[in-house]
Amino acid sequence: MRIASVTTALLRVPLKQRAITDSQSFVTHVEFLQVTLRTADGLIGHGMNWSYTPGLKAAQVAVDENYAPLLCGADALERKRLVRALFLSNHFTGRVGAARVGIAACEFALWDLACKAAALPLWRFLGPAQERVKAYSTDGGWLSWSEDDLVRDATALVERGFDAVKIKLGRPDPREDLARLAAVRKAVGPGIRIMTDVNCAWDLPTARRTAPHLAEYDIFWLEEPLQPEDVHAHAELAHSITTPLAVGETLYTLHAFRDYIAAGACGYVQADATKLLGIDEWLDVAALARAHSLPVVPHTNVQHKLHVQLAMATPNAVLVENCYESINDIWEEPIYVKNGFYTLPEEPGVGLKIRDEVLREFRIG
Ligand SMILES: [Mg+2]
Repeated sequence: MRIASVTTALLRVPLKQRAITDSQSFVTHVEFLQVTLRTADGLIGHGMNWSYTPGLKAAQVAVDENYAPLLCGADALERKRLVRALFLSNHFTGRVGAARVGIAACEFALWDLACKAAALPLWRFLGPAQERVKAYSTDGGWLSWSEDDLVRDATALVERGFDAVKIKLGRPDPREDLARLAAVRKAVGPGIRIMTDVNCAWDLPTARRTAPHLAEYDIFWLEEPLQPEDVHAHAELAHSITTPLAVGETLYTLHAFRDYIAAGACGYVQADATKLLGIDEWLDVAALARAHSLPVVPHTNVQHKLHVQLAMATPNAVLVENCYESINDIWEEPIYVKNGFYTLPEEPGVGLKIRDEVLREFRIG
């Protein structure tokens, strides 16, 4: 399966919903990098990566100038060797960040070719470990919303069939965060799981002062309370509260997950294949978590179709986020949440092809 060509496209897609706000982002658009591999015998593989902030152009340059020459002429089935070669090709300038997300986009396209050659969707190719995948909603709970908005939205999500919703924390006064949680808990009742997400905004004293109160509202987890580089602070916090910590959406390596898990600083493993080196490293992280009796809840927003399939094949995956519903129709054959569970794609491949009309309308590079 010789690779004949590598092409890329950069898109900037507007959200069709109100702007999304958390403690570090104000999101009105999402950028996508689509990578397309064509084999000499006519098979086409698609991969992609994404960002809320402008910057994927750097990943596109890495793919076009660093990775494409290494991929062209190579056997697409030698995926792990190729990914290693891509990584080493610019490891002085990009062990993480844009260079790495560019590799992940290529890795997904290599997987796409392997699945298409077998005429199977990714989750069937990997082998299902579960019957279905439960969704939890992260398409709400935004930090800029009023308390009334939070309550109205959480109540509507529960009526739609969700039994787990996430609320953003990180208001300038953490006492406001707690008051907002109290209002949502009162509205949805005791049977609904409420997750919380600080998006790294707190320092350790704020976290130590605020996080113990989360137990008063039966909060399911506390996500990214502190800067992701500070494993020690996360461990100190984790050991001082009863609410489990969830981390992973800004961890780029298997080794970073190893350090968090070894320190007892992670209760829910939110590995994201688009930040790691792709599907193979994601599966490594999931296995590492399983060996430590930890559940995996992949971080996802636009890339839920990928992570639902990985969760299907992972015995210790317990939930997958549902977010950015307003742009779910950019994908060919999108999947949906019905009665709290995800539908599954049946088309062969990984399923990361953006529709041609979307590509034409929103292409910027
Ligand atoms: Mg998060």
